[in-house]
Amino acid sequence: MAKYQAISRGTMELYMMQLSAKEVDLGPRCKEIVFERDITTASGVEHPYKLRIYTSIDQRDNECRDKGKDAIRVLLVTKEGKIVKKSTRINRVGDDVMDRVMDRCRELFRYAIDPANRCSKCEDGVLVLREPRPGQAWKAFKGCSNYPVCKGST
Ligand SMILES: [Zn+2]
Repeated sequence: MAKYQAISRGTMELYMMQLSAKEVDLGPRCKEIVFERDITTASGVEHPYKLRIYTSIDQRDNECRDKGKDAIRVLLVTKEGKIVKKSTRINRVGDDVMDRVMDRCRELFRYAIDPANRCSKCEDGVLVLREPRPGQAWKAFKGCSNYPVCKGST
């Protein structure tokens, strides 16, 4: 049986420090500790989006929520907090949980700054995969994260 890892607040803070991510307050509706990191390209250009990391650690008692069932999530969000792209959920199983968190952060970071994923129409949005639900008669494509304002796609 795989063992659930209760990530401590201290451990999470150490890794988030490596990532230059800062703890943010998302208001009373958000019960868990959340970190964010601005995205800047190698040439120093600030990206319109930022990384957000939901830690699954409860901010009231600093304990992992749900004692193991809850996953850590890494998202690309707009400055206003709208979700642009989600990474796969990171279950707290195994000894390499924080390595996987860091991998997801790097993946999303690289995706965000890759010029190939930038919308050529509005030059501001990022192209993200849109997939049909079962039964929907359209094919998956990459569309602009600024939809419906921008209808750019590949
Ligand atoms: Zn666009």
